[in-house]
Amino acid sequence: MENKGIVYLVGAGPGRADLITVRGQDLLRQADCIIYDRLASPTLLAYARQDAEIIPVPKRIGLPSVPGSVSQDQINELIVERALAGKAVVRLKGGDPTIFGRAAEELAVLAEAGIAFEIVPGVTAALGASAYTGILLTDRTSSSQVAFVTGHEAEGKTTSSIDWAHLARFQGAIVFYMGVTNLGGIAQALLQNGMDKATPCAVIADATLPTQRTVRDTLDRLADRCRQEDLQPPAIVVVGRVGGEDDRLAWFSRLPLFGRTIVVTRDARGNAEFARRIIACGGNPLAHATIRLRPLTEGRPFLEVLSRLGRYQWLVFTSASGVEFFFAALDHMGKDARSLGAASVAAIGPATSERLRSLGIKADLVPGEFTSLGLGRQLLEGASVKGRDVLLLRSELADDELKDLLEAAGAQVDQVAVYTAEPAPGDARPLIEEIQRGRVHWLTFASGSESRAFFGQVPADLVCARGVKVASIGPVTSGQLRQMGLKVDAEARDHTLDGLIQAVIGSSP
Ligand code: SAH
Repeated sequence: MENKGIVYLVGAGPGRADLITVRGQDLLRQADCIIYDRLASPTLLAYARQDAEIIPVPKRIGLPSVPGSVSQDQINELIVERALAGKAVVRLKGGDPTIFGRAAEELAVLAEAGIAFEIVPGVTAALGASAYTGILLTDRTSSSQVAFVTGHEAEGKTTSSIDWAHLARFQGAIVFYMGVTNLGGIAQALLQNGMDKATPCAVIADATLPTQRTVRDTLDRLADRCRQEDLQPPAIVVVGRVGGEDDRLAWFSRLPLFGRTIVVTRDARGNAEFARRIIACGGNPLAHATIRLRPLTEGRPFLEVLSRLGRYQWLVFTSASGVEFFFAALDHMGKDARSLGAASVAAIGPATSERLRSLGIKADLVPGEFTSLGLGRQLLEGASVKGRDVLLLRSELADDELKDLLEAAGAQVDQVAVYTAEPAPGDARPLIEEIQRGRVHWLTFASGSESRAFFGQVPADLVCARGVKVASIGPVTSGQLRQMGLKVDAEARDHTLDGLIQAVIGSSP
């Protein structure tokens, strides 16, 4: 028998990547091939296997001529072809795959071809929007029923299958999908069929995303309001008296960084981690990788140090990346944490000690102040370093402050660069455009190398002229920014990413 594959029709959720189901995430991890929609969050592709085939199928409803867009028939063919080749295919669709998602057509084609499939539900846009605005679709007193309605019927349909007279009388919440561009038509149809023009409505765009926007108005004024406010799809329209007409339920838009666009300028991986924290505070991270980290663990100085690791009483890690590259190098040589022997381990701050802990190593010392000076002082206070051999495992770009301090206290200090940070070649034009349009509120810098690389690509005068604020992780980075002529609007008190976020929150209106 031939080996047919299987197709998983997976709901990606309404926008925010981590609203996918656990089952959906598992299947993304296993898939041989992922075919995904415009509305599915691209962040989810990070779960994919390195060797998975990833195929975007952009399709704009009602606009088949969008460049690069793919027809439904082409999508169907693609899915069948990959499955018949024996692959595990994830067909990733925005929201729930069966709600206005043309799932019936895709599944019929699979059934016809005798291909096995599974449907994995997702959080549909209406429910995502409801949860993230506090506009509740059911309510004991005002809304006992909910209707999901398409605001854009299938092309070529001559008569509407929507019963407008019935909808106009509907006592509950009516949610229109794909309705913003046709808002005037929807309102007119409801009003003509006798719905009260004062019926409360809400339009929610980019629900669950940091760019979420809500417009509320009465039915007769809604279309004009949305036009004035330039509300763009994807958006859903909620018509009717619903629960939660209470601003206190709008928990998401009250998060401290909601509505703020914050540029993160670390390396790609660091940016992803920083972005997660910004999203947790409701902000909109804009990633621009300025640097790229490159391990120096193949080089002679590092290999020499590694061969005499046993002689040190203290190993000092000054960054989480240093921990990562160091242990990757050990692993590569067939060694593990036991090579550290009885040495004590110091970490510069919580991120570094966290990374150590994930490798089974508990740092003996983490200073109260997360700078190399803080680390040095604490080493001097807490542990006798006099006459001891100390190894600093650091970035090539770090200065000698820590080494000098420890040597002055009588320690024998060796330092070795575990990695270096190089400027990452990137196209800064899209970011410059966003700044020019006044859409960027903050720039954040977690190191001097980031700030130098960033202002090599983006003119400092533009940043000043557009009133974009600048936040720095600590005094060293601030000093470098000032040298480049920038004003530092916020400096972290705790020199960590969370400290940097707190500084931004503290200086936001
Ligand atoms: N299967 C999807 C819907 C696909 S139809 C689901 O279950 O959500 C596409 C429509 O979904 C859009 O036109 C818009 O009305 C709605 N939509 C999708 N994502 C949205 C979001 N993040 N915010 C608001 N509406 C969204």
